[in-house]
Amino acid sequence: MSNVYQIAIDGPSGSGKSTLAKGAAAKLGIMYLDTGAMYRTCGVCALKTGIEPKDEDAVKKMLETMDLKIKFEDGIQHMILNGEDVTGQIRTPEVSRAASDISSLPFVRTAMVDMQRKIAADQSFVVDGRDIGSVVLPNAKYKFFLTASPEARAKRRFLELEQKGTPQPLDEVLKDIIWRDKQDSERAASPLIKVDDAVEIDTSDIGIEETLEVLLSYIKE
Ligand code: C5P
Repeated sequence: MSNVYQIAIDGPSGSGKSTLAKGAAAKLGIMYLDTGAMYRTCGVCALKTGIEPKDEDAVKKMLETMDLKIKFEDGIQHMILNGEDVTGQIRTPEVSRAASDISSLPFVRTAMVDMQRKIAADQSFVVDGRDIGSVVLPNAKYKFFLTASPEARAKRRFLELEQKGTPQPLDEVLKDIIWRDKQDSERAASPLIKVDDAVEIDTSDIGIEETLEVLLSYIKE
């Protein structure tokens, strides 16, 4: 029997998915795939080539020539766009919005989901995103759904941006989070939903250590 298994972590922006996923992967000695980074890289590609991320025809053409690769170096995910490592360019608010817009196009999702399934097929992975438990890996062995109030999530993102030296006013970060929540939850293609077999963890009032403990208590590997 194969020892390969997957852990799906879904939830809205700023719920702590990536920190948790990274922590869980390190603790369990398995790989971590950040699927948001893939949609962000598509967003970067659109911004670099002057394409409106909601323009279906233009994005379709863009995908035909876009060369998107993921490289894992010492377990760290690098996004390579047309030969350039763009990992350091994908976390700006402008890219967040472009990623959210472009990810609502069904053909973009089909292409990304296909890549995600291939990557997670042969090795154990923690995968985080919005549709991992519902669409990408419906047979994942473990599924988690993180939630937190918009205010708690905005505060986290605000501190993160400040730490990175790219501060944004808190009310703008909150507005952006509410806008992305609405767009990610209401889109027709693979909206953000909690599937019945996912364990829900509310991270509003608990830190990363405690959230990780809760997650690990479900993992019986
Ligand atoms: O998780 P992150 O905030 O980096 O994701 C950026 C955007 O990519 C999200 O706002 C969402 O619109 C999109 N996304 C998605 N499906 C995923 C991961 C991310 O639609 N599995």
